Amino acid sequence: MAGLTVKFLGSGDAFGHGGRLQACILLQWEGRRVLLDCGASALISLQRYGVDPGSIDGILISHLHGDHFGGLPFFILDAQLHSKRTEPLLLAGPVGLASRLVDSLEVNFPGASRIQRKFATEITEMTPGAAVKWCGLSVKVAEGLHASGAPALALRIEATGKSLAYTGDTQWVDELLPILGGADLLIAEAYFYERPIKYHMSCTDMLKRREALNPGRLIFTHMSQDMLAHVDELPGETADDGMELTL
Ligand SMILES: [Zn+2]
Ligand SMILES: [Zn+2]
Repeated sequence: MAGLTVKFLGSGDAFGHGGRLQACILLQWEGRRVLLDCGASALISLQRYGVDPGSIDGILISHLHGDHFGGLPFFILDAQLHSKRTEPLLLAGPVGLASRLVDSLEVNFPGASRIQRKFATEITEMTPGAAVKWCGLSVKVAEGLHASGAPALALRIEATGKSLAYTGDTQWVDELLPILGGADLLIAEAYFYERPIKYHMSCTDMLKRREALNPGRLIFTHMSQDMLAHVDELPGETADDGMELTL
């Protein structure tokens, strides 16, 4: 497979608006597979779109809200009990990911964090700074403004000479510009159409900055009912569950 393929396995918000599954984006390149975010419904997404959870090399988490990270306990249990994983599972996300994952495993499946698994779980906690190599990708992050008990990251990912930027959930802050600007594809949160809301971005917020950000392609995701009501009149593309494109 040439290029970097992006498939939206979940394009919804935390509340199931529009019947959409929660944040989960499959990246595929040169035989590798990474999930960008792993919302609580991620295993349903994988099953629905015929993606073997055992074929996922790594999971990159933008921030520690359930609709972006809540699928990890289910994914890890599946890897143990059904997918029979033996290859290491690479996880990356903000500082606090390792301890929150233990908490999440224990809340959902008591004892699950202490079970001896047949695969290693390698966790990388990312901070703003130079790009790091992770799971065959080059990844650079910036910290957004989104209360989730840990830093909320916006990410810039490069592979096969292509670049993808992802806002995660965040209110606009200027630190995002160098991470999100000039990418071949910008996947942007548009929680509301134009209503300003703390800790989130509206579609209008992003369109105001489109020229400065200058993306090759802009796709809105993480849409509430308010934003979904405007989908037909938007000067931009919106994600759908199952939508796939190659950069
Ligand atoms: Zn969030
Ligand atoms: Zn969210």
